[in-house]
Amino acid sequence: MEITGHPIDERINMEKVIIVGSGPAGYTAALYAGRAGLEPLLFAGPEPGGQLMITTDVENYPGFPDGIMGPDVMDLFRKQAEKFGARIRQETVESADLSSGTFSVMANGVKHESRTVIVSTGASAKWIGLESEVTFGGYGVSACATCDGFFFRGKTVAVVGGGDTAMEEANYLTRHADKVYLIHRRDQFRASKIMQERVLANPKVEVFWNSRIDEITGEMEPRKKVTGVRLASTIDDTKSDLPLDGVFVAIGHHPNSDIFKNSLETDENGYIKVKPFSTETNVSGVFACGDVTDHKYRQAITAAGSGCMAAIDAERHLESLGA
Ligand code: NAP
Repeated sequence: MEITGHPIDERINMEKVIIVGSGPAGYTAALYAGRAGLEPLLFAGPEPGGQLMITTDVENYPGFPDGIMGPDVMDLFRKQAEKFGARIRQETVESADLSSGTFSVMANGVKHESRTVIVSTGASAKWIGLESEVTFGGYGVSACATCDGFFFRGKTVAVVGGGDTAMEEANYLTRHADKVYLIHRRDQFRASKIMQERVLANPKVEVFWNSRIDEITGEMEPRKKVTGVRLASTIDDTKSDLPLDGVFVAIGHHPNSDIFKNSLETDENGYIKVKPFSTETNVSGVFACGDVTDHKYRQAITAAGSGCMAAIDAERHLESLGA
């Protein structure tokens, strides 16, 4: 409901802070805003908990020397935010109006107004862009080994990519599959050394260097399934067929900034721009944190750190408004 003609303080359901997104950045912003007494309203979005929900062992989050499972650590994040009064809604924000000093977001067809907005919508998996990838999505093609690896017990699968995610997925899949091919378009990985070493030392992993997937082949009857890939050399375009039961795409992520693009400045890849050493966007009162702003570090700990910054920035902004 549009309410006009009222002084700002008389508006119904005017929030102090709305947080969009529920990864490490969003929950940390909610924790800090909650402790500051701002009673933040957080929309968890289509992937509650964010990317760590599809990660197995998190070995590099400080405070967990024995590692922790991704979903378990996100459960702790959520509980801690709720403990300090964050209100968490399992809803997706469909659109946002950040054009005036009072902001609004639409979720489940309901409008929510707020003095400040923290955008922490994260990033999502990228796909190669093949039609066959869509055809067999969920029928042997996946972007999440920890979600779907179990279905490939005793089978042969491929992982595409050369970054840390691809290394992690390939290693993880060897727990289930008998054979894991790692398909990479260049002759060296960009993954960290330790992750590369683990993969290269794993006897179940075989690397196809300088290779790309031109087609994912499969059957539609009697049951839709992947049967292999058509590979092409990135050096001389030589083609070859590789029989497989599954393909895991692990080629990076894109920022979930689409609903904010009309109002917030982004870089050429869609990452929301923030001022240096700050979470301030180009719109005063709107802050952004976590992977939706960060193409460089993209770690849970850096996302959490920037979520903390966003909450502090929002709190100071509200103070400056006298709120
Ligand atoms: P990434 O580092 O951007 O690597 C993407 C990989 O996919 C690259 O090797 C790239 O090839 C390849 N690629 C991109 N587009 C492709 C396409 N269309 N076809 C074929 N290959 C393609 O992404 P990431 O591995 O998801 O990692 C993202 C960030 O998260 C990194 O900072 C990483 O360190 C971090 N991370 C950390 C951990 C951990 O520490 N446990 C785990 C996962 C991720 P080129 O190399 O040729 O560009």
